[in-house]
Amino acid sequence: KKVADRYLKCEVLGEGTYGVVYKAIDTKTGQTVAIKKIQPGKQKEGANFTALREIKLLKELKDPNIIELIDAFPHKGNLHVVFEFMETDLEAEHYSFPHRYKVIPSNDIERTCLLPYEMGFAQLLMPNGPHEPEMDVGCVGRDMKPNNLLIGPNGRLKLADFGLVCIFGSLGRRFTHQVFARWYRAPKLLFGAKQYGLGVDVWASTCIFVELLLRRPFLQWADMIYLPDYVEYQYVPGQPLRATFPMASDDALDLLSKMFMYDPKARISTHQALEHRYFSYGPPPTEPTLLPRPP
Ligand code: ADP
Repeated sequence: KKVADRYLKCEVLGEGTYGVVYKAIDTKTGQTVAIKKIQPGKQKEGANFTALREIKLLKELKDPNIIELIDAFPHKGNLHVVFEFMETDLEAEHYSFPHRYKVIPSNDIERTCLLPYEMGFAQLLMPNGPHEPEMDVGCVGRDMKPNNLLIGPNGRLKLADFGLVCIFGSLGRRFTHQVFARWYRAPKLLFGAKQYGLGVDVWASTCIFVELLLRRPFLQWADMIYLPDYVEYQYVPGQPLRATFPMASDDALDLLSKMFMYDPKARISTHQALEHRYFSYGPPPTEPTLLPRPP
């Protein structure tokens, strides 16, 4: 069945925060795509049109680290957003390791954590210029988590849902999603800060980076974080990282120590992080196409 005279609907891929996602063929290009059906929530009349206008802006954004938004259209009262099709996500890939291949080469971990942060797109959301950690930029916090990092056919990692949170807010998000996303949230967000900058993304990257090293989520904040005076941390700055990560290289630990700073002003920026020795010393990451793939 063709949708919008252009897309041939295939199977359902899953259900996410905004609604059902299905696979489809774009008959105009022959490309396989993923279509997200976004159900109108309790927004007021016309909200979908505003959203549509903003989504059209996201279409202009072309970045190799962000999932391409191909099209958006209303259909039967729902908003449909068309994305390039991605094979799998980092979470699925990572946690199926025991059944697939045993070790993630440590020089490939970086691909999974920092590449999506190159300055080009960071600046897009920075109406006031280059990033300062504490600026109120309206919309950062790209909801970084392993299942939002999708892996394409060539092994390239890309960030999903970029900008959608800004448009739709977190209204209607399922509780389970929040619990999960919380593990990647910077301390100040957890405690209700309204002003934050790109530092929150550096924090989330760090949590993902560490998760790849440890093979389990690192900071599993419990529900008690919602209690008014919750202050306890599982990780204490200055605690020797070497004890926690016996297998990591010195460069990796040095980078980690700079990323895992509670104070976002003291935290390394995305830009500085990308220039860290860790990314230039040692063997380069394996070409995405040469990475081990499931049979
Ligand atoms: P969430 O809101 O939990 O992040 P999503 O709405 O992004 O979930 O995705 C729901 C399901 O659809 C997931 O199982 C995901 O793997 C799949 N999916 C989402 N985007 C794509 C895509 N571009 N290509 C292939 N599958 C996708």
